Amino acid sequence: MDKGRVLIGDYLGTIEEFVPGKGTFAEDGRIYAAIMGEAELDKVNHTAEVRGKSILELEVGQVIFGEIVNIRRNNITVIAKKIRGYEAEIDEKTSLYVSNIADKYVEKAEDFFGVGDIVEGEIIRIHGGMVSLSTRGNYGVVLAFCKRCRHRLERTHKYKDKLVCPNCAHEEQRKIAGDYGKVEKA
Ligand SMILES: [Zn+2]
Repeated sequence: MDKGRVLIGDYLGTIEEFVPGKGTFAEDGRIYAAIMGEAELDKVNHTAEVRGKSILELEVGQVIFGEIVNIRRNNITVIAKKIRGYEAEIDEKTSLYVSNIADKYVEKAEDFFGVGDIVEGEIIRIHGGMVSLSTRGNYGVVLAFCKRCRHRLERTHKYKDKLVCPNCAHEEQRKIAGDYGKVEKA
């Protein structure tokens, strides 16, 4: 059975009726929505769930793959696509904030990333609905696209910190992850 769209704090049922599942919380024997989304009240299996923005499923320490949607001077915004080790893709758009870009000082984030690139990073903080990701260390871009022709860039033996476009031979710098090229576009 479906209850449809719910907002945070909407009443879903009692703990006698349902086992509170993902996206819910129980208080004084009553179950409420903990996130905004689609409520699913299963009267056969007695489970109550809310499917929606998966912020609650994200935890500090998880490794996330996401697509870069915006690059500012010293931070980037990434839409989470997948959690490493989980099969399923993340349903709705959950945006992550990356400011811990590299081990060295980064003057311009755009020198290390491109919009549309796929990055791998670790969640270092979740606070007030904001999820912060770090691409330091072995993390970084796992798939990048040529800023000139959008072809997928490849690693080159010539440079450690540059990628090359097999289509137009453009060379581009990235914060390259150890896993570069081993992860398919999410
Ligand atoms: Zn190119």
